[in-house]
Amino acid sequence: MELGIKGKRALVCASSKGLGRGCAEALAAEGVNLVINARNDEALQATAESIRNTYSVEVIAIAADITTESGREEVLAAAGNIDILVTNAGGPPPGMWSDWEREDFIAALDANMLSPIALMKSVLPGMMAKGWGRIVNITSMSVKAPIAVLGLSNSARAGLTGYVAGTARQVAHAGVTINNLQPGIHATDRAIALDTAMSNAEGIDIIEARKKRCATIPTGRYGTSQEFGAMCAFLCSQNAGFIIGQNILLDGGAVNSTM
Ligand code: NAP
Repeated sequence: MELGIKGKRALVCASSKGLGRGCAEALAAEGVNLVINARNDEALQATAESIRNTYSVEVIAIAADITTESGREEVLAAAGNIDILVTNAGGPPPGMWSDWEREDFIAALDANMLSPIALMKSVLPGMMAKGWGRIVNITSMSVKAPIAVLGLSNSARAGLTGYVAGTARQVAHAGVTINNLQPGIHATDRAIALDTAMSNAEGIDIIEARKKRCATIPTGRYGTSQEFGAMCAFLCSQNAGFIIGQNILLDGGAVNSTM
């Protein structure tokens, strides 16, 4: 399918690995020039080089913590007048409801709610002035179905989802779409960290923990970054201009609901 976005310019945050990288690669495959970001410069530069070589697009790589104001300023300055924004950052640590204090919630809200909101506020005026823009936020299936050990994620991402629901409808008239992608379990470093957390909590080995987590998914496997990126690229396409404020679950059927 021709997505009609060749030559557009995208900022994909937190994208040296995992789901962010999957989105960056899927956009690059459509001929979109990229600004990518992560904290570790070495891994980021390696990803940038690999994407340039594979897809022959321009890739600017900015090493910065996207959850800080200074990090965002640096990334946004390099990004300039972008057409596409994909927000992403690492997820909060797992734990128990009784573990989390005010500062833990503030950190989670900063990373997974207030950072994407700040990024959207920065780029929306430029997109609206051009009459075209696409914003995709990587959130989590935990917004639809709580993951008990990820209470910080459940809380922060629900807040972001509420903000997007209203804002997407305020900016749609200017040709800008905002939607959220809700990943279930995908085979990335984050999945390894959560497999390890289960293995430690239950005193089982990591293979056993992965089997138990796979058994919660009707597909019987974790998702891939490529599958995830393909949906992101579609939401950024010309064809997706009528999709506004939606939350799209990519979870292999793990959330058991009729609608
Ligand atoms: P991942 O494989 O661990 O990759 C995270 C990427 O983000 C890396 O490139 C990392 O690079 C970068 N990053 C992390 N924190 C950053 C920060 N503060 N500033 C800039 N870059 C940052 O994780 P993932 O699986 O792709 O997950 C992406 C998001 O989806 C997370 O919020 C996660 O909680 C959520 N999610 C994932 C799953 C899953 O199963 N994979 C399921 C539901 C939700 P550096 O470390 O070098 O910064």
